[in-house]
Amino acid sequence: MKCRGAVMRGVGRDWEIEEITLDPPRDGEVLVKMSVAGVCHSDDHFSTGDMVPTRDFAAIMESTGAPPVDYFPLLGGHEGAGVVEEVGPGVRSVQPGDHVSFSFIAACGTCRWCVSGMTYLCDNGAMMLAKEMTTDGTRRRHLGDQDLTAMTQLGTFAEYAVLAEESVIKIDDSIPLEAASLVSCGVTTGWGSGTVGVGTQPGDTVVIIGTGGVGINAVQGARTAGANSVIAVDPVEFKRDTAKFFGATDTSPSVEEAIPLVQEITQGVMADRVVLTPSVLHVELLAPALMLTRKGGTCLMTAVPKFELNMVPLLLVDMLQNCKTFKGLIYGGMNPRASMPMLLTMYRNGHLKLDELITRRYRLDQINEAITDMREGRNIRGIIEFG
Ligand SMILES: [Zn+2]
Ligand SMILES: [Zn+2]
Repeated sequence: MKCRGAVMRGVGRDWEIEEITLDPPRDGEVLVKMSVAGVCHSDDHFSTGDMVPTRDFAAIMESTGAPPVDYFPLLGGHEGAGVVEEVGPGVRSVQPGDHVSFSFIAACGTCRWCVSGMTYLCDNGAMMLAKEMTTDGTRRRHLGDQDLTAMTQLGTFAEYAVLAEESVIKIDDSIPLEAASLVSCGVTTGWGSGTVGVGTQPGDTVVIIGTGGVGINAVQGARTAGANSVIAVDPVEFKRDTAKFFGATDTSPSVEEAIPLVQEITQGVMADRVVLTPSVLHVELLAPALMLTRKGGTCLMTAVPKFELNMVPLLLVDMLQNCKTFKGLIYGGMNPRASMPMLLTMYRNGHLKLDELITRRYRLDQINEAITDMREGRNIRGIIEFG
């Protein structure tokens, strides 16, 4: 079938609305009509090049036997929700008419990591940016005579998507699709980071660095987990104000200014937990973030670091003698198939704010405007509505 989608042809380019071709779903696959797509910062990392390996990095990866990276042309979007239109043979968990949200990792459910409750580490993750389907290794998405990479095996910036059943999660019909879309990436990643990911305990002091679409949910997660103080750090005043609405007790415009503030709040002990959720993680942030972390505390990396060989200056003696943990985690340590329905139930019962995350709604052909608003810090979350 043919439909419209937002395609990126290379680093530094804008999104272009193109007619794309999707093959019918095969074994274990579904066709979904998109209702809503969220615009997340990770979509922009391909245009900026932050998530595209440098030549040195690519050479080292290839020397390990990894296939060469070929992301473009890229169909964007990894947050969204829609309605199942058609299912291929063998599909059991959904049927036509079902409302679904998406997981940006097509977790297989049977590998060692999945059966250990860490679906975010599923071996399928290696195919997140492959042109081939996780189901049978063949290609389903095309732009003229070229094959498309669908962002994280989803490609939600299109009117339809052909997906592995492993990527779709059935949600209750009574949940608005807008809310269902938000838990695809930003909410689950942020909420998980502020709770189980960084290990927040009742009474903790938690610092969240960067309170955009992901970090803002780390703020509400930390409060849900019982944090006593949640300090939101963001250079944008609107985001600091929004963080207060979502449960931050204090705010700071910079990490440097947060250090004396946290010293004062904790009487010099410093924060039990620090979560790094800026738009892109620059290495200069690590030293001050670890200064904000108390003895025995945890500093969590949730944001995407620039995709290159990073040389990170860490004060190792501080990490050893003060028993600090620096940790990286995908999806906030959540298992989408369990956590998305849970978060949506919390939303329905008034314990999780979702509607308030949406700053602005766009049409698909306004995608570049949505990206600009995100870059300029005008949005907590922008969403694309399909007619
Ligand atoms: Zn995302
Ligand atoms: Zn798996």
